[in-house]
Amino acid sequence: MDRFETFMTGYRELHHAARGAALEDLAPECRCPECPTYNDCTEGAGERLYCLVGRSFGCVTENLGCICQDCPVYRELGLEHRDFCVKGPEAARRYERSLP
Ligand code: SF4
Ligand code: SF4
Repeated sequence: MDRFETFMTGYRELHHAARGAALEDLAPECRCPECPTYNDCTEGAGERLYCLVGRSFGCVTENLGCICQDCPVYRELGLEHRDFCVKGPEAARRYERSLP
């Protein structure tokens, strides 16, 4: 397993509250608030960690660039995709990539 698969295996074994705590621990490292694509709507909604929790809930209408590759979470988890706020999270993207 690579780093992301190891993280997700541990994450899925956590109870609901512990999953929330794990995301809260990572949220301050998320660089999305510094990204040109991040906007007043996403800020107001407190959206973060799209790579794990999924795409923006209707706030991102235009992709103005992605800085995920400069993010500590990106490196720590060994992520392979980007533009998560518009294209969906790493796990779903990997699954889609594996389809024939
Ligand atoms: S990789 Fe991107 S979406 Fe994930 S925490 Fe970092 S900046 Fe946020
Ligand atoms: S996922 Fe990428 S494009 Fe979207 S706000 Fe975060 S850094 Fe920017």
